[in-house]
Amino acid sequence: MPTTTNCPQTSAKKSYKPPAQGLGLKGPGAGLKNETYLSLALKFNGLFGADILFGGKAQDELCIIASKRLQMSLLCAFKELASDRGANPKEKPAFQYKVSKQGDLLLLSLAANKTLLDEDRLQALIDSLMAALKKPIKMPGQALMLETDPRIGYHLGQELAFDKAAFALARTSIHSPVQKYDLRHRRLRLARMKRETEIRDGLRRGEFVSYFQPKIDPRNNEVVGGEALVRWKHPEKGLLMPKDFLGIVEESSLICDISQTVARQTVALLVRLKRKAKEVPIAINLSEQDLKVPDLIEQTSRQLGKCNLSPDLINLEVSERVALINEEDLSDFMSAVQKAGFSLALDDFGTAYSGLLRLLQLPISEIKVDRLFLVKAAESPKGRSILQGLVSMLLEHKYRVTVEGVEKLRELNLLKAMPGCFAQGFYFSPAVDAQQFQGLKV
Ligand code: C2E
Ligand code: MG
Ligand code: MG
Repeated sequence: MPTTTNCPQTSAKKSYKPPAQGLGLKGPGAGLKNETYLSLALKFNGLFGADILFGGKAQDELCIIASKRLQMSLLCAFKELASDRGANPKEKPAFQYKVSKQGDLLLLSLAANKTLLDEDRLQALIDSLMAALKKPIKMPGQALMLETDPRIGYHLGQELAFDKAAFALARTSIHSPVQKYDLRHRRLRLARMKRETEIRDGLRRGEFVSYFQPKIDPRNNEVVGGEALVRWKHPEKGLLMPKDFLGIVEESSLICDISQTVARQTVALLVRLKRKAKEVPIAINLSEQDLKVPDLIEQTSRQLGKCNLSPDLINLEVSERVALINEEDLSDFMSAVQKAGFSLALDDFGTAYSGLLRLLQLPISEIKVDRLFLVKAAESPKGRSILQGLVSMLLEHKYRVTVEGVEKLRELNLLKAMPGCFAQGFYFSPAVDAQQFQGLKV
């Protein structure tokens, strides 16, 4: 596998411009035998904002340094590839390349002999480019180092295809910063767009409806609250559950539209309950995206105000992933929640890795213990003592505790031995429509 260990170090030169053609070699496609072409689109997410941090045209300067690094590591990688094949290291390697800049993208076009650049070697080449680009760059004249967060999309084929490389680039993320163009992705993308459009149309036609599941005090079976759970009344497929559409929705801004719909329907239910002198708090589930856009909180707070409803009636459920959100977004969200006077509950507690200490620093008043704990508790004395220990620790620290997913009498009896915690589950009732929820004994 080629490495960049022996590569010459690059240095920052303001005047440096990437050569129009690869360091004296001809441009791609100029007469190599048995050619294959690599099109590569690259961008440095970490460079955005460099002008603000360092002033002047820092972003461009850094981009030039990075592009020089790209070329150096490319040359090193190919030298190693050639020596792998037993070629004389002094011979010019059988490849030609060109780096150019287009907007915030660096484009690399490379032509090489097919025997030199097969799929396996390509992988090694990309890995070595990535390793070189990931090293932080020192801003000229500054003591600070900047991580550039490089992303690469590429395509290997019979001809140059930057559009395909850019298409692959759009799929990159912090967790998978390198993506290869794949025909399947085109199909998947089209299918996803079709599905999103269908959901958007469904939202417009009012097909997304909140169901409400009661939260019970197991000591007396009284309804002490409810949770809004969204359903899609699909005109052909019937009633669809969140697992059927939430995945797609959560990756786009559609989740915010769904959350607003659910919040509106929840306020409407609270109004109807108030008319019947039944006031119980209802919980709304929030996704990661909702936390980054505090509009939902402000709008819901305004709607409640208009209807003379207390903010105590809205409870927001967030998952443990809230601990992974950056400080700035989290602090904006928390300010909006505090201003509105809503309470926060931590959903599915214990199902994911979470920074427990960070979680417990958040102003969370309720913990919803995942059904998994209940299942384990019903299976063995050890499971029972874990659940008991957890619930009593949380209650002692003044959290409200709800155990989710109570399905059987045996499970309910376990909870009865833990006074002070609430329960939710099919044993009492699944989520029902607003009309039925109003009919429950509250
Ligand atoms: P969740 O917030 O933990 O909601 C509880 C889920 O457990 C619900 O599934 C509920 O129907 C189900 N459940 C209730 N009792 C029982 C039981 O006794 N046994 C079992 N096995 N399950 C039970 P649902 O409605 O399919 O929702 C699944 C998840 O989808 C929710 O988990 C929540 O994370 C998400 N979700 C639902 N509605 C919304 C929404 O309006 N917005 C957002 N962002 N997420 C939502
Ligand atoms: Mg929930
Ligand atoms: Mg839950």
